[in-house]
Amino acid sequence: MIIPEDFQKIIKDLLGNESLSFFESLHSVSPSSIRLHPHKNYEAKNSTNIPWTKWGKYLETRPVYTLDPSLHAGAYYVQEPSSMFLEQAVKAANVIDQPIMVLDVCAAPGGKSTHLLSLLHPDSLLVSNEVIRSRASILTENIQKWGYPNVMVTNNDPSHFSKLEGMFDLIVVDAPCSGEGLFRKDNDALNEWSLSNVELCALRQRRILKDVWPALKQGGVLIFSTCTYNTKEDEETMEWLSETGKCEFLSIPVQPDWGIVETTFKQTIGYRFYPHKVKGEGFFIAAVRKLDPENDVRLHTKYALGDKCKNEEISQWLEDPSQYKFFSIKGQINAVPLCNYEKINYLSNKLNSILIGIPLATDKHGKLVPEHGAALSISLNKNNFIKVALTLEQAILYLRKEPIEISSNEKGFVLLTYKGNALGWVNLLPNRINNLYPSNWRIRMKAQ
Ligand code: SAM
Repeated sequence: MIIPEDFQKIIKDLLGNESLSFFESLHSVSPSSIRLHPHKNYEAKNSTNIPWTKWGKYLETRPVYTLDPSLHAGAYYVQEPSSMFLEQAVKAANVIDQPIMVLDVCAAPGGKSTHLLSLLHPDSLLVSNEVIRSRASILTENIQKWGYPNVMVTNNDPSHFSKLEGMFDLIVVDAPCSGEGLFRKDNDALNEWSLSNVELCALRQRRILKDVWPALKQGGVLIFSTCTYNTKEDEETMEWLSETGKCEFLSIPVQPDWGIVETTFKQTIGYRFYPHKVKGEGFFIAAVRKLDPENDVRLHTKYALGDKCKNEEISQWLEDPSQYKFFSIKGQINAVPLCNYEKINYLSNKLNSILIGIPLATDKHGKLVPEHGAALSISLNKNNFIKVALTLEQAILYLRKEPIEISSNEKGFVLLTYKGNALGWVNLLPNRINNLYPSNWRIRMKAQ
């Protein structure tokens, strides 16, 4: 690993005598870690708890995640431990006991968004946004695997949120950054690093913050994070925010043995994660409460979300159908939580949505063909379907979208499960089995 000299100097100035241990830690192996789904089944063998999160686990050895069907069933998310500190920042914001509106503006591939869904009050609504289209697709895949109904995935530039004045109680800006905290894991971050790129990233972060700030309610909280140590991108960006808008920084309680460093810079408070002190990668996070008054939010819109869904049968697909509103767009029937319908309707007219609530089925000439997202949804009424449990070998074939053999006398759509979690659908026809796993999600790796 060749570490750029400019970066070495920055770290020496920042850490003084500690910089030697810091540089040594860059040559050690990154911990393997996952975050468990609160409502799906998974036993993390040979694991220990990550202390700042309820669902985070350090794994003793790094498995081949791609070949574990439980990952594809959304039973856990592979995530770096420091990032899971988001949980403490959200707790410090004091917003999780009530239904709130949340925006995750730089959301792909979905680590923070899936974590937020696990944390939020179930009647909250999360807008999980990613500006880069190809990354928005990966985000949509991961959000569907997580299976929560109270979420919209959007593909918008941060500037599109400025007009949603005072809409959100919580905004997460997990900003694109120079990636210094990822040098140990990611060679590209190391090769692409330069002083000029740090400057560019800092400017981009300020632009994103300026764009989304109007969308935060007065009294609402913005959580800013990066995976870099650079003060220009971290504390100086926070300082810039506090000069731009009226706000106060929140203190996030940390235990001394966690190794997290609280930094204060002018009126800002931030939390730094260094790999020689914390069992995780480099990370920075700060939480700030908005004190600026906002304009009124008015949710009026002329347009209704999709067409009314006339299919009675589909309501039986969900565990508590009275809590949902069903609608169809181009034949695809989705369900959204009733308590959030008005907001979703409003937002779907303002934003470019890719996923809204639970995609349930496509109506093909009166016959319902189930959507993959329905299988993974935590709201699916699984008792309404014929289920077949797969072995590991069958599950891998299914995820590779290869033909699979299933012994069943049933015909029609069948819900496949692996270790108690739904994995997807097949259509059992008289003379063959149609594997309905989404083509663009299929895994290419072969069983080992
Ligand atoms: N929050 C994500 C997670 O936990 O999985 C990681 C987000 S990553 C650090 C930053 C994201 O910002 C990337 O997905 C990137 O595509 C997106 N991004 C890049 N340029 C952007 C811009 N100008 N405005 C908003 N987002 C941008």
